[in-house]
Amino acid sequence: MINNQNKELINSGKMLPLMEEFYTIQGEGFYTGKAAYFIRIGGCDVGCHWCDVKESWNAKLHPPTNTDIIVENATNLANTVVITGGEPLMWNLDYLTQSLQNNNLKTHIETSGAYPLSGKWDWICLSPKKTKLPLKPIYLEANELKMIIFNKNDFKFAEEQASKVNEKCELFLQPEWSNREKMIPLIVDYVMKNPKWKISLQTHKYLNIP
Ligand code: SF4
Repeated sequence: MINNQNKELINSGKMLPLMEEFYTIQGEGFYTGKAAYFIRIGGCDVGCHWCDVKESWNAKLHPPTNTDIIVENATNLANTVVITGGEPLMWNLDYLTQSLQNNNLKTHIETSGAYPLSGKWDWICLSPKKTKLPLKPIYLEANELKMIIFNKNDFKFAEEQASKVNEKCELFLQPEWSNREKMIPLIVDYVMKNPKWKISLQTHKYLNIP
């Protein structure tokens, strides 16, 4: 539980409400196929109706965990770390990412961008959501824009968001998992007509790994 005792440590990033951590293969986006240590931090109020980690939403359910221990666990196994959630930018990630980089780990984040950017990043994957749009500064920092396509209207939203990122940003369209059979043919067609985009698939779900 987050209480007054550890609130201060959480504010300074020395503790984080950890939901889970695991070493696996990055399943989606630019680094698909790369081994990475995933650190999933609890807490999210973005409210995507198709969210596949709704159990992450309530941060109070996830134990405040000593950041040094998380760093040690990652350093023992991996050379790249993906910080995800939930919405990880609800927390101060400066201490976590600095410690990881001090141990020569690459720091990647998956974020909706709805909270101010903290942390030092080797790779920022921005995945904007209509329910709580990204804050302006992160558009220029993003290395990758990953747009989830649930229905036809999402192509328009994807283009709006793509018009805001920097010109080097990699652009991905990813079918929302439960609707993939319907949307994949539309995405294939769209990417052939608009080749600045690439397709991202949740390959970890096909591979049956976390
Ligand atoms: Fe779920 Fe991510 Fe949306 Fe939050 S931003 S509701 S964790 S999909």
